[in-house]
Amino acid sequence: MEHPPPDTKDWTWVLNEPCPECDFDASTIEPEDVAGRVRANAAAWRAVLGRGEIVEQRPPVPPGRPPRWSALEYGAHVRDVYALGAERLLLMLKKKHPTFANWDQDATAIEDGYRRQDANKISYDLAVNAGRFADLLDKVRGDQWQRTGMRSDGSAFTVASFALYLLHDPVHHLADVEKGFEAIKEASD
Ligand SMILES: [Zn+2]
Repeated sequence: MEHPPPDTKDWTWVLNEPCPECDFDASTIEPEDVAGRVRANAAAWRAVLGRGEIVEQRPPVPPGRPPRWSALEYGAHVRDVYALGAERLLLMLKKKHPTFANWDQDATAIEDGYRRQDANKISYDLAVNAGRFADLLDKVRGDQWQRTGMRSDGSAFTVASFALYLLHDPVHHLADVEKGFEAIKEASD
């Protein structure tokens, strides 16, 4: 298989319980703190994507297991997640209970050719998109945190829960990338 499998899991449970894979715990984070965490996360991605050739390598997987994404591919994905986050947040702030368009993550990765993109450009664009998302969150006031929106699969969000939900993805994938780097190093020892 050339491409990692699509991530079709529904991750909305991370709003109600800690994520065992990356230790993200939504119950410990105030929505008002998400913007700061987004900016810190973008800085961490910049460091990760600046690590040279290793960012282009996919971690080894046991025979028969699907491939895992390289740091570069995860970075490109997170860049797009932040762009989508800003778009959806803006929609929730402007429209009454909007429904989000569907986004097939795997199709995006294939169509946009994540593997062939430049790490420095991904790093820069990720920071720009994260900054835009964080800037929008900075402007959310009072009742606006309770404005609503719905994903095409029926999952309903408030601005507050959406902010937390969106933050988990880039945090989770940063942990994926660190694990991937370890696996690559172990395989080369
Ligand atoms: Zn997680």
